[in-house]
Formats: sequence, structure tokens, C-alpha cells
Amino acid sequence: MQEFTYVQDILDGIGFAINEEKNHEIIINYPLIFNKKNRKYSLSDDYQITSQPLGTFLTDFINADFEKYDDFFDFFSKYSLSIIKCGEIKKLFNHSLFDDESIQSIFTVIASKNKTQLLNLQEQIDMILDYCLVHPNKLAQNFKPIERMYALRRIDASFTILTSNKATFYSFPAFSSNPGKSEEEIYNFLSQKKSKVTELNLILPNNLPVLLYRSLIAVLTEQVYLRICKNCGKYFISSSKLADYCNNLAPNSKKTCKQIGKFSTFRDNMQNDPALALYYKIYNRKLAMKLRYPDIKKYSSDFDFFKTIGKAKLEKYKKRGISSETFIKWLKKNS
Ligand SMILES: [Zn+2]
Repeated sequence: MQEFTYVQDILDGIGFAINEEKNHEIIINYPLIFNKKNRKYSLSDDYQITSQPLGTFLTDFINADFEKYDDFFDFFSKYSLSIIKCGEIKKLFNHSLFDDESIQSIFTVIASKNKTQLLNLQEQIDMILDYCLVHPNKLAQNFKPIERMYALRRIDASFTILTSNKATFYSFPAFSSNPGKSEEEIYNFLSQKKSKVTELNLILPNNLPVLLYRSLIAVLTEQVYLRICKNCGKYFISSSKLADYCNNLAPNSKKTCKQIGKFSTFRDNMQNDPALALYYKIYNRKLAMKLRYPDIKKYSSDFDFFKTIGKAKLEKYKKRGISSETFIKWLKKNS
């Protein structure tokens, strides 16, 4: 049937479509199945369709540590390796059964080939979100996140994500169930109150950068809200602008961050923290210098150093690995 052409096109592409009107993202893939009896992996012959709130892919992507095998495996098992290797997945798995070791070697090879690109994209998103959403500088503060993004795109051409724009557009009528074929059957179907037909508009990103770009736009236009969980520190998507805690299981706990957060005073402590304030002040100043004088290498390397080492220190500090005094001392030394 014609309306299923898009399914085939999604499967031939990166396994992903976006419905911006409904704030949904749709994943269509051949899932990897693990058979507990013989402990072998294989690729399912049937495709599977899942839908989730728009922006979830983006948060999964930035939360993943692609240096770690487990993160890489979990991420690309949930989505599809098609995201980085268009249409090659069926060929790659070719009805075979794989044991733990061979599946690991396949994923390890793919991980190492794509790591540089994935880390570069993460880095870009990190900086774009910092500039546009999380810590806008003084000049940008009074503008909307999407306006800051337009400014950033013009002042710094190195953000390749911001110029990624190749997608396929699908528009077709979707019925809530099979309406039949004859004129009579179709009108009969439409006369039943519960039967609906809507025009469905889908965007099929042609590659990973486009998918990330569309997700960023949804976040920066505040169609959905990207928040940082005040308990686990990870990004999450919410329909509320004020959500503070994610719904994932908290680290080393059987409760979700949301359940824990209710009883926590952690958030209040974070908001009035002088060490954090100092960190973001220095961060913003170094970024501003880098953007203002792109030809001066010192500013650029200075910022890159602060971003890499500073972020690691920040994480450590948030997890109480170093004291506030030590953190502030390091910040002042590197300001
Ligand atoms: Zn959390």
C-alpha cells in the first residue's frame, strides 16, 4: 500500500522519522534479538516501530559516552546502526547468529571507525546548548534561544550541525484503522465517530547531523523542553519548562530521580553555589573571546583547554569528589 512507502524509505535510510506537529519521533528498525537459550544474537526479520517524545534521541545522544563500549552498544541497539551506516545493517548481519564475542568485535570495529565523528558532534551540541540555552552570555541573555542560535551560526562557521539540512518530506493521509477500498466502505468508515483520518507530515532526516539539527531546533524553539536533571546531572526532555528531575532510575538506586528529588535540598544548594557561578563566568568569558577573535589561536586553545579539563573538574565537584575550595582554587588559577 502506498502509505507504507515511507516505512520502506525509513528502513532504507537511517531508521528515523520526525512528526513535528505531534512532537513525536519515530524509530523503525530491525531490532537485535538476544536468545537466552543459546546465548546468540541475531537481527529480527520483522521491523519494529517505536515512538517517543521529540528530543529524546538528542538527550540519549548527548548522555551517551561513546568512549565506553557498553554505552555505544546500548545506544545503537536502541536505535539502529543505520544511523551511522545507512542501509547496510541487513547486509552486515545477514541472517547469521552471533555469540557475545563476535557481536562485540563487530560493534567495536564500528565504534572505533565512528568515534571521532560522534565525539565531534557531541562537542558541537554541547557548545551550542551552552551558548543558546544553558548559559547564555550577557549580550545574548535578552534573546530567545533560537535567536541566539541564529547569531551563533553567523559568527562561527565551524558548527557543521547548524548547516545540516538534507531531509525527505512525506505528507499523506493516515487512517486510524483500515477504511476499506470501495467508496461506500470509506464513507461508512468516516461516518463512525471513532474513525479518524489525519494528514500526517513526516520529516526523514538523511543523516545523523540533520537528525541532530532538527532535534536542536525543536528544543531551541521550545516545542519541547530540554532540562538538566538536578539529581543525576543528565539531560532529559520534558513537556514542562520547570521540570527539575528526570524519570530515569537514579544512580545506585531503585528509585527514579523524580522520586528522590522531591525530598532533596540538593537543588537549592546548587543554585546558590559560588564555585558553580565562578565556573560559568569564566566559561562564558573564554567562549566569548574565542568567538570574537576566531583567528587568534590562543583564545581558541585556551577555551578548549578550559572546556575539557574544566568540565571534568566540574563533574568531579558535582559528585563531591573535590571540595568547593579546591575547585575555586583551580578556577582562579585557570581563569
Ligand atoms: Zn536524573
